[in-house]
Amino acid sequence: MGLFSRNKPKIKVQTTKKDGYSGWVKCTHCNEMVHANELQQNLHCCPKCNYHYRLSAVQRIQLIADSGTFQEMFTQFKPLDPLQFVDTEAYTKRLENAKKNSGRDEAAMVGTCQIFGVKVALGILDFSFMAGSMGSVVGERLTSIIEYALLHCLPLVFISASGGARMQESALSLMQMAKTSAALAKLHEKGLPYISVMTNPTTGGVTASFATLGDIIIAEPDALIGFAGPRVVEQQMRQKLPPGAQRSEFLLEKGMIDCIVNRHELKEKLFQLLNYLMENDRVYQEPSTYKVLYGQSLGKLPQKLQELLNLAENYK
Ligand SMILES: [Zn+2]
Repeated sequence: MGLFSRNKPKIKVQTTKKDGYSGWVKCTHCNEMVHANELQQNLHCCPKCNYHYRLSAVQRIQLIADSGTFQEMFTQFKPLDPLQFVDTEAYTKRLENAKKNSGRDEAAMVGTCQIFGVKVALGILDFSFMAGSMGSVVGERLTSIIEYALLHCLPLVFISASGGARMQESALSLMQMAKTSAALAKLHEKGLPYISVMTNPTTGGVTASFATLGDIIIAEPDALIGFAGPRVVEQQMRQKLPPGAQRSEFLLEKGMIDCIVNRHELKEKLFQLLNYLMENDRVYQEPSTYKVLYGQSLGKLPQKLQELLNLAENYK
């Protein structure tokens, strides 16, 4: 049924705006007409069917961080084109376009913020920048914020939306899977919690590395989560996938994720979980134990942390 067919739902449409855009949009999921304002007020979830539309990294921050507390970090890592990769278009050109269209300089945005007063290290993938794909800068920023969390004894929250590894960086992209995973293992050794939030869609190398390594794995409702897309899997297995396979609800039933959390409750849920996980005295160490400013004078640090920091220095 087209937008202008006779059978469309009877909703009053204002047509006051000059450009002809009335503010009414059709939900791509349930086909109901929804007003853009209402959609926005409802955190970009359809008020009729609760379909969760995609959010930008900035909207994600507004959703979970206490107002004004987010401080972006590691922006010094900028994308390069070491392979001088060209497919139908040069990688440099794609990067340029992605910057223009998304208003971001890379797919990952990392930093610190507070969630109802609890300080956390935060990493977010923005799908609008080259489908949230993981190249070396994404891997580097995420790894840096993990190391920062490690040094400052902060819990970590990652929110993913990604098509997977960035093919224009070939093997360099794949290495980011190992790198982020290794850094997360260090965080785990220290007993600092990591909560992974997977949103629609989270696939490929991102699913196959840090997104599924959370101590607690949360998904938004009806999010596509998987490694290869359904079509590829079906071709490979030569059989049809069961209905709803690779969606949050199916994965919850099979035990691959821990819970599905509605966007409206995400901040509250993160706060509850962080409190619960950080309350445990065994894991929590007073940040002042290691009085470190990232990349500055270090004093006496445990050798492993010192090594890590040296490594981080070398990345700059
Ligand atoms: Zn809907």
